[in-house]
Formats: sequence, structure tokens, C-alpha cells
Amino acid sequence: MGGAEEQNRIAVIGSGAAGCLCAYFLLKSGLDVTLFDKNPPLLTLLPTGGGRCNLAHAEFNPKELPHNYPRGEKFLYSVFSKFSTSDTIEIFAELGVETYIQEDGKIFPVSNSSKDVRNKLLNAIKKYGGKFVQKEIKDVKELENDFDKIVISIGGHSGYDILKSYNLNIIPPKPSLVGLNTKENLSELSGISLKDVSISNMTGDILFTHFGISGPLIYTISSLNAFKKFPYVLKIDLMPNLGDLQTIFNQKPHKEIKNILSEYFPAKIVSYLLRGTDSEVRGCNINSQMRDLINNRIHEFEINITGTNKGSETVTAGGIDLDEINPKTMQIKKYPNLYCIGEVLNIDGFCGGFNLQNAWSTACVCAEGIKNTSNLP
Ligand SMILES: Cc1cc2nc3c(=O)[nH]c(=O)nc-3n(C[C@H](O)[C@H](O)[C@H](O)COP(=O)(O)OP(=O)(O)OC[C@H]3O[C@@H](n4cnc5c(N)ncnc54)[C@H](O)[C@@H]3O)c2cc1C
Repeated sequence: MGGAEEQNRIAVIGSGAAGCLCAYFLLKSGLDVTLFDKNPPLLTLLPTGGGRCNLAHAEFNPKELPHNYPRGEKFLYSVFSKFSTSDTIEIFAELGVETYIQEDGKIFPVSNSSKDVRNKLLNAIKKYGGKFVQKEIKDVKELENDFDKIVISIGGHSGYDILKSYNLNIIPPKPSLVGLNTKENLSELSGISLKDVSISNMTGDILFTHFGISGPLIYTISSLNAFKKFPYVLKIDLMPNLGDLQTIFNQKPHKEIKNILSEYFPAKIVSYLLRGTDSEVRGCNINSQMRDLINNRIHEFEINITGTNKGSETVTAGGIDLDEINPKTMQIKKYPNLYCIGEVLNIDGFCGGFNLQNAWSTACVCAEGIKNTSNLP
């Protein structure tokens, strides 16, 4: 890498969310930046938020924001103290992307278009003279002679071979924010969603699928359990506020229980709950054994989780061990001319804009770190 007089040639490996925003900051301060990516730049932004780009979350307290990251919480206190949600909104406004806050706290561009955000960020990089090279980097070492500093922003999905020449601790990545496979065949329920179910004191929505179970609450569970060994059991309360089942049956003594339960659940769920029982028995004729069985199936709906739905994870848990990284600059402590940002690190958040926030924030802290050690006029 270059001597003291030549500190301004920066390579960014991976022009995803983190790499691109970092490049933008660096270019603005007059540094020479080349972005390498095996794919066209910023393609990874296009599917975010279902094509609408949920780019941050309306948690404006930098001390509260880290609570949304099952991996990285402690590290992010420092990072978010330098660049947090309000800075994200500000920087995107500077790029011409106005934002709004949805009812659930998710922040989107007013255009509701990831494509628009992508175009604005790429145009800004081009305007400041950023160079894009479409190339897969096999080993970071390849670039060491031509660049003074190298930013590694390859995301979580491409593997860590690129770092094989360095002695770094890497926590083997696991899928997170992902649907879960079940031992039970739930395909007859596929497509049905239930609102406000409860799992381990958390409430949210679930969706039955051809492979098992998915939906926002399951994504959260998959994140919290990313490193848990399979198989494990999940107990779901399908309707925590249902009330006493016997009282409900007593109120409709002449109705068949399948029709009583259909007032609360979709028909396919009712059939599943009543499997192996006489679904036509009337409310007044139900015995305690059957009542308790149904009650148990509703409030302790048990499924065995056998794995994650392969290839559909939103993020990966695991990555470069944060002990290797200086949170004030994003430098690798052992190799101070190398920097790591975004999902390649052992940081991942829940759904809702937290993962892109990690990309933006670590990008900014890295750019500041590089600027402070570069010879700028
Ligand atoms: C379907 C989907 C929807 C999502 N929606 C949201 C959302 O709404 N909100 C949110 O906060 N997060 C969302 N995420 C997560 C978010 O997109 C990522 O956390 C974020 O993109 C990570 O940014 P990054 O720059 O670290 O990595 P990435 O954006 O993954 O970029 C990494 C880049 O590095 C390149 N690369 C990898 N290896 C090499 C190599 N060896 N040589 C050259 N180039 C390489 C890749 O081609 C890629 O362009 C979503 C993810 C998915 C999959």
C-alpha cells in the first residue's frame, strides 16, 4: 500500500448499500474511489422493502436503536452515536430522496421506489467521479498494491474466501429473517395468515406456507434463534385474547363447534384444530376432554422447527467478529488499511429498516475514519 504522501486511493469491494454510501462520502471529501462488484452496482437495494426500500426505522434515539440488533448491539452504541436515523433521513434528502414514516415506524422514500433510491445514489457517485469496475475479487490482497485503503463491503451472502489471506475470526454465517421449515406438514394451511398470535411473549403475524411457517413474527423468531440447534419446538398461541372456550361454547349451545370456531378462525385452521375429533358436535354436547384438547391446540399450537427455508434469508447472522474491528473507524485492528462495513460484519437487525441502517451508519463511520487518516488538501 502507498506511503504517507499517497493515502488517497481507496478501493471499495462490494457496491451494495454500505459500499455505495461509503464511496459517496469519500468522494465528496476529495478522495479517489474505485468500486469493485461482481454484479452491477446496488442491485441488492432493488428488492428491499418489497421494492419500496425500507431504508430506516423511526427510532430516533441512538441509545435505543441498538436494541433492535440481536448481533452487534454493544458495538452499535458507538456507531449510532456518530450516524443514526436522523442522519440517514438527512443524507438521503441531500441525495434528493425525501422520506416518510409509515404507521409501523418503517421509513420509506416518498417515491416508494427502491429503483429511485438506487438511481439517486449511483448518480451522485458518478457525479463526484467514482469509478465502477465489474469484477469479482477473489482475495483482498489482489488490490493491496494499487490502493492505499480498502473497504470490504461484500454483504453477508457471498462467503468469506476473499479474506483467506488474513488471520481473522469469522463467525460462520447463519440465515436470519427467514421462514422456518416444520416437521409437521402444514401445506393444507398454506396461504393462511393469522394476526396477533403470540410466541414466547411476543405478538405478531404469521403466515403458513408450503414449507412450514413464515411472516413477521417468525422472522423475528428466526433471528433470535439464528444460532439455535435444530430441531426445536415452537409453541404458538393462535389467539391469546380468545377468552374462555367453555363460555364461548355455552353461548352457542345449538351450533356445531366447527361453526362456532369459524367465527374466530379461517375454515382451514378450524379443520386443522378439529382433526381427529367430531367437528359436528354441538356446543352444549362438548365434553371437557374435547374442550381441553381444542383449547390446547389453540393456545399451545406446537410445531417442530427442522430448519430454515433455504436461500430465502433476508440477512445473515454471523460474519467478521466485531472484536476484530475498531468501532470508531471500522478499521480491522490488525490491518489498519483494511475496513469492514455493513452485513459482512457480525451485525444483523430485525425487520423494519434496521439492516440498511447498519449499512448506512457503518459506511459513514468508515468514511470519517478514512478521511481522518488521509492527506486531504
Ligand atoms: C429480499 C430482501 C429484502 C430486504 N429488505 C430490506 C429492507 O427493506 N430494509 C432493510 O433495512 N434491509 C433489508 N434487507 C437487508 C439489506 O438489503 C442488507 O442488509 C443490505 O443490503 C446489506 O448491505 P451491504 O452493503 O452490507 O451488502 P449488500 O447490499 O449485500 O452488497 C454486497 C455487494 O458485494 C458484492 N460482492 C460480494 N462479494 C464480492 C466479491 N468477492 N467481489 C466483488 N463484489 C462482491 C455483491 O455483489 C453485492 O453487490 C433486505 C434483504 C433482502 C435479501
